[in-house]
Amino acid sequence: MSDMIDAFRALKDMRQTERKVFGIPCPVCIEKLPKAQPKILQHGQVCRAHKPHYRDPRPRPTTDEYNEQMAAAGSEWRVS
Ligand SMILES: [Zn+2]
Repeated sequence: MSDMIDAFRALKDMRQTERKVFGIPCPVCIEKLPKAQPKILQHGQVCRAHKPHYRDPRPRPTTDEYNEQMAAAGSEWRVS
């Protein structure tokens, strides 16, 4: 049972690191909704806080890029 909780924590940490490493604030939110917190977008993610929606134009990182940047951020998480 505690293994499951550890796995859950690791996953949560991984998501937080991903957001920190790859997330950028939505430029449309910043422009159109300056008083709101801009939504943090990762590669290809769509922001629906306004119309038209905004899609982050960046391609997904390659496995190597992903692992490198996660390592640089101090995460143990690796994909293969
Ligand atoms: Zn937005």
